[in-house]
Order: sequence, then C-alpha cells, then structure tokens
Amino acid sequence: MVVVLSGNFRGQGPSKIVSIDRNSKRAIVEGINSALKHVKRGHPKSPQGGRVSIPVAIDVSNLALHCPSCNRGVRVKSQVVDGVKRRLCTNCQKVL
Ligand SMILES: [Zn+2]
Repeated sequence: MVVVLSGNFRGQGPSKIVSIDRNSKRAIVEGINSALKHVKRGHPKSPQGGRVSIPVAIDVSNLALHCPSCNRGVRVKSQVVDGVKRRLCTNCQKVL
C-alpha cells in the first residue's frame, strides 16, 4: 500500500499498486490518476463506444510506502535478518 505525496492526488491513499514500470520509474496506483479515453463502438471495455476510464501511471518519487501502525507514508530502511532482506519503517521500526 502506498500514499501519494504530491500532485493532484496528494494526500490520497493508502491505495494498492497495480503495476510498476521499473525502467521509467512510474507506477499505476489503484484509484489514482485516471483519464477518460474516447473510444469507438466495438471496444472490448465499452461495446457501445463512449468514454472509458483508463489508469495513468504516476512517478514513484511521488509515492511513499504506507505504514499501518504510523498510519501515514513513511521512509523505509532495509535490514538483513537471517539472510532475508526486510523493509523497516524508519519511524516505528516495524517490518513492512
Ligand atoms: Zn511505522
């Protein structure tokens, strides 16, 4: 789960990440930043044609991981425990 730090959707979340493009460092987040695309008849999502809501990716630098115990977006640090890398909340030290 992530929260949005800046832009039109600032303060929104926690929402689920749908997908991440690691090369362009952009992510599609559920319910955040969608656009209406006008489509002709026969489109799989809208057989009659009209407007279809499509998700638009936002830059991952505008996102922060949501910590359930702090209830806000937090920075993370990593720690290796028994050879397994874990993400810790810098605020409350809990594993995310
Ligand atoms: Zn925390």
